[in-house]
Amino acid sequence: MTTASKTPLWKQEDAVPFLQIKNVTKKFDDFTAVDNVSLDIYKEELFCLLGGSGSGKSTLLRMLAGFEEPTSGSILIDGVDMAGIEPWNRPVNMMFQSYALFPHLTVFDNIAFGLKREGMKRDEVKTRVNEMLEMVQMGEYGKRKPNQLSGGQRQRVALARALVKRPKLLLLDEPLGALDKKLREETQFELMNIQDELGVTFVVVTHDQEEAMTLATRIGVMNHGEVVQVDEPHDVYEYPNSRFVADFIGSVNMFEGRVTEDLPDSVKVESKEAGCTLYVNHGINCAPNQKVSVAIRPEKIKISRNKPDQIVNCIKGKIEDMAYMGSLSVYRIILESGKEIRITQPNFQRDMGARLTWEENVYMYWDVDSAVVLTA
Ligand code: ADP
Ligand code: MG
Repeated sequence: MTTASKTPLWKQEDAVPFLQIKNVTKKFDDFTAVDNVSLDIYKEELFCLLGGSGSGKSTLLRMLAGFEEPTSGSILIDGVDMAGIEPWNRPVNMMFQSYALFPHLTVFDNIAFGLKREGMKRDEVKTRVNEMLEMVQMGEYGKRKPNQLSGGQRQRVALARALVKRPKLLLLDEPLGALDKKLREETQFELMNIQDELGVTFVVVTHDQEEAMTLATRIGVMNHGEVVQVDEPHDVYEYPNSRFVADFIGSVNMFEGRVTEDLPDSVKVESKEAGCTLYVNHGINCAPNQKVSVAIRPEKIKISRNKPDQIVNCIKGKIEDMAYMGSLSVYRIILESGKEIRITQPNFQRDMGARLTWEENVYMYWDVDSAVVLTA
């Protein structure tokens, strides 16, 4: 994570990217696994490639590592074109999903392996390995064997092993996939700390949107081999650039409609599904009468039994289903058009959930700033 006080590199006009991916395509026979991807990634980043299974994430990562050659396009690391450069000659290390620790070696020797093979002096190896063990909070475990560790501990050893040679770029393919939820969250914060301390550039592949949201400086969303949006987590969530991204990241309600008025920073959309004209404060270029979707997140919709003062973006419906989930309640509501929408509300009062019930008619409303208009 970057400190909030300074402008991140990717927002600085003259910043030089550390990793440049230029029009990279990878074909397997006539199947295109990675489709004309261009990306600039900067030194201080923990960049997440996020996408569903088969979207081309691992293939892209393997090309960065040098295990696959692009069919076309180029990859530059620190200004150097990687074409024809073998994996072991790249300033890169890759950590695989299966950690592949040597079972017969201790934790210490697992981490020391690569350094010893390079002929590094004993004392230096010891210092470096111990440094790494401390960093991943495994200082006490140097003498254990991998089978005497938990899954999370093994993952941290693998991370230490990947970092000990001080690569400039560390590639992680679904690194936390094998961990349970709680451990995964802890390890996520650890990864962010390590990134901060070492200044290594991370590219992390994940299919888990929550993980990407937590970890990433920026997210590249992949679909069918293409990178369809690159933005900071907040912007990917709040300003998705397509129906695909809006739907893939978090959950969303979408109203189909037609633009009736397009002003410089707001749009009016007539929507039969919503049963009214929706007002959206969002500077997007669309043409009058253009077919668009208005996307609104479930947590941004307010719900009440009584008619609110607000007139615009206010719709009526009937509670079809509701679920009390402790910190929040989830409502499934059917509009007069038959359209079904989903609302989540924090339970900020103890009896909130008990107030509204099944089959009840309710008003739903939201701010003009809360929705986005999607044209793609
Ligand atoms: P992801 O990591 O996003 O799940 P991959 O990059 O592993 O996706 O794969 C993307 C697509 O490319 C998949 O459809 C996969 O079957 C195909 N693919 C990957 N590697 C090969 C290969 N060596 N030969 C043929 N097809 C491949
Ligand atoms: Mg993969």
